[in-house]
Amino acid sequence: MELVEGALRGEKYAIARLVSLFEDRRVEMARERGRVIEALQRAPSRRVAAIVGITGTPGAGKSTLTAELVSRIREMREGIRIAIVAIDPSSHVSGGSLLGDRTRMRLAAGDSRVYFRSQASDTALGGLSPTTFQVIRVLFHLFDIIFVETVGIGQSEIDIRYLADRVYLVMQPLAGDEVQFLKAGIMEVPDEIILNKCDAHEAALKSYRALKSVLTMARPFDADTIAIHRVSALTGMNMDELATRIFENAERFRQPDLFAREVHHLGRWVEDEWGRVGLRELSAMGGAGEVLRVAGDFDRAQRRFDEAIRESLRR
Ligand code: GDP
Repeated sequence: MELVEGALRGEKYAIARLVSLFEDRRVEMARERGRVIEALQRAPSRRVAAIVGITGTPGAGKSTLTAELVSRIREMREGIRIAIVAIDPSSHVSGGSLLGDRTRMRLAAGDSRVYFRSQASDTALGGLSPTTFQVIRVLFHLFDIIFVETVGIGQSEIDIRYLADRVYLVMQPLAGDEVQFLKAGIMEVPDEIILNKCDAHEAALKSYRALKSVLTMARPFDADTIAIHRVSALTGMNMDELATRIFENAERFRQPDLFAREVHHLGRWVEDEWGRVGLRELSAMGGAGEVLRVAGDFDRAQRRFDEAIRESLRR
């Protein structure tokens, strides 16, 4: 497969073509996707990506931060390939995100080892776009690290847990997010917290203290062990340390395959395409894990489910 070979060599055009195939929501394309995944799995030069989740409210500095992290991490290992998948809520029109997009694209344009893709999210699904997982499935074999940037605005943001090996919540001083996050259950999501914009010293110190006490309420059992990184993406303060930490964590928490995540995202796909009727059918079939196991892989599982539900709707 020419596209697969090109993508493995890091050619952006080939990667973009594959990404489009995986963003195509038609089930008919599952067969083709399955062939691509099989070719990738057989390829000696394939990679196994660590998936790094970056989440936080719009304007917290996620895109600036990610761009800064990526430019540091790419210096840490020769030949490393990094992808950034940014999910922006379709309703979000603030200039912050557009500015961030430009920063990230400039970064990617100057370096063939950095690939950038942005997706519009369905607000119903919170942070993740329905096709985000599909895109991750293909990038997983092509890159060493994938940054997935999502907007933390509600409970459904918890989806990022089922995608990333490690989740970082980005906050900014005195945004007043702490209490909101506490109520929405967001505080239970991150493995580590990044308090950005600490160039505003006094505000940063106050926020750090507020954050500490909110964490103690939200997570009485592990509050003390959660790292809070105080950085400034703008001035570079503590950014080398943070980049090193994220790079080391990527090595440490990288999972060898996507199976556990496929189970979750197959369920999400069923819900998204077929709603409650779909979920009932899935459960009658033994659940997502069983359907995956019987079918053998994600693409076959989608086709199998699609056939089964059409069949049962005809009856
Ligand atoms: P996102 O919406 O979370 O991706 O946020 P952006 O990266 O677009 O940043 C939002 C705004 O915050 C922009 O105007 C950035 O220049 C600014 N910003 C980002 N990081 C810092 C920082 O460390 N310090 C300060 N003072 N401003 C920052």
